[in-house]
Amino acid sequence: MSLSGPRLKVLISGAGIAGPCLAYWLSRTRLDVVITIVERSPVPRVTGQAIDIRGPAIEVVKAMRLEEAIRSRITQEEGTSILNSSGKAFASFKAGDIFTAEYEILRADLAGLFLEATESLGGVSYMYGDSIKALEQTEKGANVTFAGGSKGTFDLVVAADGSTSSTRTMILDEEDLKNSYNFIGQYIAFFSIPSLPIAPNIWQWYNVPKGLCIMLRPHRNASTMGAYLCITTPAHGKRDTVVEEAMEKGSDATKKMLHSYFENLGWEAKRVLQGMDSASDFYMTKAAQVKLPKWTNGRALVLGDAAHATFGIGTSLAIESAYILAGELSKIKSSDEVPQALERYEGVFRPLVPTACFSTDFMGIGAEEFIVVGWHGGNDLELPVYDWVK
Ligand SMILES: Cc1cc2nc3c(=O)[nH]c(=O)nc-3n(C[C@H](O)[C@H](O)[C@H](O)COP(=O)(O)OP(=O)(O)OC[C@H]3O[C@@H](n4cnc5c(N)ncnc54)[C@H](O)[C@@H]3O)c2cc1C
Repeated sequence: MSLSGPRLKVLISGAGIAGPCLAYWLSRTRLDVVITIVERSPVPRVTGQAIDIRGPAIEVVKAMRLEEAIRSRITQEEGTSILNSSGKAFASFKAGDIFTAEYEILRADLAGLFLEATESLGGVSYMYGDSIKALEQTEKGANVTFAGGSKGTFDLVVAADGSTSSTRTMILDEEDLKNSYNFIGQYIAFFSIPSLPIAPNIWQWYNVPKGLCIMLRPHRNASTMGAYLCITTPAHGKRDTVVEEAMEKGSDATKKMLHSYFENLGWEAKRVLQGMDSASDFYMTKAAQVKLPKWTNGRALVLGDAAHATFGIGTSLAIESAYILAGELSKIKSSDEVPQALERYEGVFRPLVPTACFSTDFMGIGAEEFIVVGWHGGNDLELPVYDWVK
C-alpha cells in the first residue's frame, strides 16, 4: 500500500497509551493510512500517576523524538523509602536501584504527549464518547457498528482499550478468552493531592498489616503529589466483595469505602483521605494480568493492556507493541495482507513479553518479582529496526 495505492482504513478502540502510540507509528510508515481512534470517555483521559518507561520502550520514545519532552516532565523522584507501621524508614533505595526508573513520568503527561504527537497528523481523528458495539469480519474488511449508531468498514481493527477491554470478546474466541483476565490480588486507587510536608522527592511506601498500604510519590510540580491506596487481599486471586461492590457503584461509594479502610491507619492517612475527597483525577482499578494464547484474528487484534496487561511494566509493553505492530504492517502491499502482517507481529512480539507477573505481594517484596522488571529493564533486548524509521 504505497502512497499512490488505496488508503488503509484503521480503527483503534482506546485513546490511552497503546492506541495513540500505534496511530503515531502507523502514520510514520510509508502506508497511506486514515486512522480513527474511538474512545469511550467523552473527553481525553489525560490523568494518572507515575509510570515508568523501561528497556526497549526507551528507544521507541526516543525514535518518536519525545525524549526531550519526557525528560522535561520526569517526576524528579530520587529514591524510595519503605516505612514501618510507625512511619519510620526501614529500607531505602536510590533511583536506578530497582523502584525508581530513569524515566518516571506521570501517565497524565505521557498520555498528553502521545495525544499531541498524533493530533497534528493529517490522517488521525478522535471520536470521543463512543465505542464499538459490534464487529463482523468478512474477507474484504471488518464491519463495525458503534454504540452511538454509526457504522463503518475498516481494513484493520485494533482493541487498545485496556485490561478490561470489552472489544476483546468481539475479536477472540471464547476458548481463547478462557481464564485470560487474572485478578492478582490487589485493588489500587490513584489520585493527586496537595503536597504534604514530608521528604518531597522520595517515594514513601507505608505498609501496615492486613495488606493495606499508602504510597506518596512526587510530581514535577511541587504543589501536588501522587497518592496511592492499595488493598492487597490475603491470598492471590481472593476477592474483597466490599471493595468490588463499592467500585461498581462509582467514585463516591468507592471513596467512602476507602475512608472506612484507611481512616485509622496512622501516618498521613487522614490528610491523604482529605486530599482524595477533592481529587479530580481519582481512579481505582484492580491489578490484573491478561494472558492470552493468541492476540490476532483475521483483520483484528488486541494491543497493550488488552492483550498482555502485566503489572508494573504495562506501559513499556504498550509502547513496544505499538511500534512493532506498525513495523510489521508497514511491509504490506495491499489490504489483503493485513491478516498475515498481524500474525507476523505476534511472532515477533510474543517472545518479548514476560509470562510471569510482578507480584502484588510487593508489600513483602519477593526477589523473583524483580527479575521480571529487571529482565524487562535490560538493555540487551533488541527491537526490530524498520528501514523507514530515521
Ligand atoms: C485514567 C487512567 C489512569 C491510569 N493511571 C495509572 C497510574 O496512575 N499508574 C499506572 O501504573 N497505570 C495507570 N493506568 C494504566 C496504564 O495506563 C496502562 O496500564 C498502560 O499504560 C497500558 O496502556 P493501554 O493504552 O494499553 O491502556 P489504558 O492506558 O488503560 O488505556 C485504555 C483506554 O481505552 C479506553 N476504553 C476502555 N474501554 C473502552 C471501550 N469499550 N471503547 C473505547 N475506549 C475504551 C479507556 O478509557 C482508556 O482511555 C491508567 C489508566 C487509565 C485509563
